Formats: sequence, C-alpha cells, structure tokens
Amino acid sequence: MKKILVVIIMLFLITGCNKNSQEYTIVATNFPSYDFARAITKDSNIEVEMLLKPGSEIHDFEPTPQDILKIKNSKIFIYVGGESDAWIDDILIDIDPTKTKIVKLMDLVDTYEEEITEGMEEEAEESAETELDEHVWTSPVNAIKITEKLTDEVISIDEPNKELYESNRDSYIKELESIDNEIKKVVKNAKRKEIIFGDRFPFRYFVEEYGLTYYAAFPGCSEASEASAKTISFLINKVKEDKIPVIFHIELSNKKIAEAIAKETGAKVLEFNSAHNISKTDFDKNIGYIDIMKNNIVALKEALN
Ligand SMILES: [Zn+2]
Repeated sequence: MKKILVVIIMLFLITGCNKNSQEYTIVATNFPSYDFARAITKDSNIEVEMLLKPGSEIHDFEPTPQDILKIKNSKIFIYVGGESDAWIDDILIDIDPTKTKIVKLMDLVDTYEEEITEGMEEEAEESAETELDEHVWTSPVNAIKITEKLTDEVISIDEPNKELYESNRDSYIKELESIDNEIKKVVKNAKRKEIIFGDRFPFRYFVEEYGLTYYAAFPGCSEASEASAKTISFLINKVKEDKIPVIFHIELSNKKIAEAIAKETGAKVLEFNSAHNISKTDFDKNIGYIDIMKNNIVALKEALN
C-alpha cells in the first residue's frame, strides 16, 4: 500500500513537473524583444513567451525558478544585456549553448553610454561609473537591425519555414521603415528640436537617431522617482525659456514631476512611450511596438510645434 502511494506521488510529481516546464520555443525578457520575435514568427508554430509580466516594473525584475526553467528549455533566449538584466549573468553558465541560442540585443546594434545631461538628478552611488545605455530598441532604426538579425536566428532553428519568416520580416521592416520616415518628416518640419521629460529618459537612441536635444529629470534606468527642487526648477525654467509646449512622462509613470512642471508653466502633459513594458490591458489588446511608436509620433508632433 505504502509502495503504491509512493508511486502515485512520484507520477504526480513527474507529470506536475512536465506541466510546469511548458516549452516555449522563444523566451524574451522584455516587451520589445518579445514583440519583435512575435512579428517574425507570426503564423508559425513557434511559441513566444515574455518573462516580464505586463504592467510590472522592468528594473527590479527577479526571475522565479520557473522562469529559469523556461529559459533553459527554450531554443532561443533573447535579453537586452544592460543593467536591468544583470541577473542573467548568473544563469548564463547553466544554459546549454547547443540547445539554447542566446541573443543579446545590445550586441546587435551600436551602443551609447548612459548620459547625464544638465539639470538631471544624479544617483550618488552610481555617478562614478558610466554604464552603457540599454534602451537600444527605442530607435526604430535599431528595431530594423534587430529584426533582421533575429530573423536569421529564427531561421537557424526552423529552416523548413524560412520563407514564412522572411516574408514576416519583410512586411514588419516595411512598417518600421514607414515609422522611421514619418518621424524624420515630423522632425524636419518642426519648429523646434528640443524635448523635455519630467521623468526618466530611456530615449538616448531615439534622440541620437533624429537629431533632437533633450532635458530630463533622471537618466534612463534610474530607480528614483522623486526629483529635488533644484531639478524641477531647472526643468521649469527650460520649459519657460524655450517656450516648450509639451512636457513628457514615460509609460506606467506616476506623472508627478511632469504634472508639477505643467502646473508652473502651462505646458501640456503627454506620454512618450519607451515600450519597456506595456499594461495588461494593452497586452491583451495585442498592442505592439508599431502602435506605440505611432502614438509617439502624434505626441512628438505636438511637442515640437
Ligand atoms: Zn530601462
């Protein structure tokens, strides 16, 4: 009787385990890499999983044992490679490279160092060392490069469906190119080339690509959300001096700083979305990088004119 019970328990554990380690072909850490992989593998049998939960804060993500199992069982694991992905360094050693291809977004494009601009709140502990800016996907031109290289990786694990992936890639890149052209047009015809964020600034790659200048309360990956009176008054003066019509906040922000600046200056508060992560509602509505960028273009037009 005891023996049977043990066998039943063991069977339960084995099947339970299998269920838990559900296999996704591609596992991505954050929303942009997930969304690019989803576009490339559209209408295929490849399942793409995002580790980050929709609506959650990316910069303090901690993987569960289950997440690590998902990564190990995947055929392609995509991560960004910056500060917020530091936890990955510890698990990379356990990943079998013959089973799982590892794709690091920051290796696919040219990178910039994180920048501290005039008036920005500095993080005391970190001010000594400069880190590479991890928000490479915020430039649609980088998104094109990433999509191209990611498609090659997908083909390498599923050669028979090469044509499908190539055609998905081509139509997705066409959409990204039209986004890129639209932004260029907006900037070219704009009255001003300066944007101001009462928030973190994860758009270094975006402004470098389109020749914009910016001021912001914090650098891209800052954990701070409270700005000093000095930072806020610097931004208020900038908005007044340069007659800036729009003050931006990023997605999933409490908007406090942007609203404080708007109150003093009469500027309008608008969202400029870095696509780090999206809300659960938008995730369920299948909102993607392209939709996010289209909304950004509308906001940008207002901010530059
Ligand atoms: Zn970030």
